[in-house]
Amino acid sequence: MINLVLFGKPGAGKGTQASFLKAQFNLIHISTGDLFRNHISNQTDLGKLAKSYMDQGDLVPDQVTIDMLENEVDQNPQAKGFIFDGFPRTEAQAEALDLFLAKKEMNISATIALEADDEILIERLLERGKSSGRTDDQDEDKIRNRFEEYNTKTAPLRAYYTNQNKFHSVNGIGTIEEITTRLTHLINSL
Ligand code: ADP
Repeated sequence: MINLVLFGKPGAGKGTQASFLKAQFNLIHISTGDLFRNHISNQTDLGKLAKSYMDQGDLVPDQVTIDMLENEVDQNPQAKGFIFDGFPRTEAQAEALDLFLAKKEMNISATIALEADDEILIERLLERGKSSGRTDDQDEDKIRNRFEEYNTKTAPLRAYYTNQNKFHSVNGIGTIEEITTRLTHLINSL
């Protein structure tokens, strides 16, 4: 079983790459951002709660996010492995994920960071906001707040996974195909 965490700032290309990798390695792709957006479009209670945070570019509270993620993993008992995209984003989430997987005799195989400069990411997000309709991508202040959330809450996970010898970095600048090739090489070498 391969279980991957795709790690990186907003706009780093996690979702784009996950959609290639899931096909290539036969994995289930779980994006917490997509799950929240589905809840928002279905106007569920969870969606209403998540929206109030997402609209500001803030993280949704840990327990809500952890419960949603665990539920999604439980719904795929036959999976050959998972790509976690946008989760974990805090140390509490990372610890919860390790505990949850251990109970199922599973573990994280590797955490792969897609690296790109802030200015490139902001350009990508503003561009995506023009067509995606995502309000959190249309306002530079909200984007900067997401980076701030990343820097304070998510960046410490580098150390968390480095301590477990699971942290890998990949250059996230280039064409989509180039980056997929870099990721494929890395995953094949695990
Ligand atoms: P991006 O990586 O481009 O910010 P996502 O779709 O992954 O886009 O996330 C969008 C928003 O969803 C985040 O800004 C946050 O509000 C919420 N979210 C997604 N994943 C998590 C998580 N693991 N913990 C808390 N909030 C999350």
